[in-house]
Amino acid sequence: MASGQEPGFRESVNLLFDRAARHMDLPPGLVEKIRVVNSTYTVRFGVKLRGDIHTFTGYRSVHSEHAEPVKGGIRFALGVNQNEVEALAALMTYKCALVEVPFGGSKGGLTIDPRQWDADELERITRRFAFELIKRDLIHPSQNVPAPDMGTGEREMAWIADQYHRMNTTDIDARACVTGKPLNAGGIRGRVEATGRGVQYAIRDFFRHRDDMKLAGLEGGLAGKRIVVQGLGNVGYHAAKFLQEEDDCLIVGVIERDGAVVNDKGLDIETLSGHLRHHGGVAKYPHGKYTQNGAAVLEEECDILIPAALEGVINNDNADRIRARLVVEAANGPTTAAADEILRKKGVVVIPDMYANAGGVTVSYFEWVKNLSHIRFGRMQRRQEEARQELIIEALEKMTGKTFPDELRGGFISGADELTLVRSGLDDTMRGAYGTMRHVWHARRQDDKDFDLRTAAYIIAIERVAESYKSLGL
Ligand code: GLU
Repeated sequence: MASGQEPGFRESVNLLFDRAARHMDLPPGLVEKIRVVNSTYTVRFGVKLRGDIHTFTGYRSVHSEHAEPVKGGIRFALGVNQNEVEALAALMTYKCALVEVPFGGSKGGLTIDPRQWDADELERITRRFAFELIKRDLIHPSQNVPAPDMGTGEREMAWIADQYHRMNTTDIDARACVTGKPLNAGGIRGRVEATGRGVQYAIRDFFRHRDDMKLAGLEGGLAGKRIVVQGLGNVGYHAAKFLQEEDDCLIVGVIERDGAVVNDKGLDIETLSGHLRHHGGVAKYPHGKYTQNGAAVLEEECDILIPAALEGVINNDNADRIRARLVVEAANGPTTAAADEILRKKGVVVIPDMYANAGGVTVSYFEWVKNLSHIRFGRMQRRQEEARQELIIEALEKMTGKTFPDELRGGFISGADELTLVRSGLDDTMRGAYGTMRHVWHARRQDDKDFDLRTAAYIIAIERVAESYKSLGL
């Protein structure tokens, strides 16, 4: 790619994929098979609303079926198009492979501004879109399982689940046809905040490794680190909130649709997000300095930059001016391939999207397993675990003649409930994947100082998909 040229999203993903594939010794035909999108279904359907028929365009793209079901969110946004959905589907394949979630990659989208329609209208549109996909097995517990993405959430997933159930009344596993559902419709505790939680775990893991921090030019612990977050949607809000409340980070800047607010002493995320909900923007937020020029805040001096909204926000135009030491890609594809090259040359460490935002699909996997097993995690063992712990306390007290400290009792006894297990599974997944990724990173860096974490992530993912294809006889 000539410098100064900006690739599109799909092209960007391909370029990053190719860069990794060049480090591998795979037959070119297999590389091509892994790279290409298997299929994209486009549907145009009409819904009668406000006395007129409105035509909507939707997509469901399947990138790779080396593992089934294929998995990936459904996005409701005006910018949705085939290229975007295909790029996102490809990223889902690599993400699932990297964090060892046994799914292929898929993604869907509807070109719509959800804020232009009320809840009843949106329900009719969503159900109609779901109907079109269900009819073609593009929503199915064992073949294709959507989830929330930008512009969608629990509410839309509940409509989709119900629509599938209405069309498959005898399918006992119907609830597993979609994840990210509300609890009362078969959801799992901890799914709403899972992607943000995963971002927090990813950053914590990075900060557990002095060598890695050194490469980013960072020192000390996570406490007091200065963070800029772009996008205070579900992912950005939860990541910022957890990092502030539990890791004592300073959120010094938040960029939103209408501009940005900065505060050197840290912004209170809960208060700011309340303001955002009430006023629809961050302007006039009383506890920080507002600027209409949100893009400039992306370039502010900080330790960690978390792009948590759209793709392509770090690009050819601004990559050179990014001053963060560490970029954590909470969004999918926030850095273009051209920008990635610039950041790498500047020595900025990037924790890549396919790892950093994998918390969502990881907990989706737990939800899917819960739906198929028809039982809440922990329901059988929890009280039995507690009874055993009680017994240990009793034995300790008998043996020593001393009383077990009261302040430790609760924590020692309590058996794991669903949320605790979900967090433990997510933490384990994030740590495991980071360990594998940094191992490849450091090994390859010995001969190639330019070798980065993203290439390591791609190599691991491609290798795993290649192995699946090979064992399938391809
Ligand atoms: N939309 C989320 C993502 O991009 C979640 C996908 C899922 O849970 O299937 O990873």
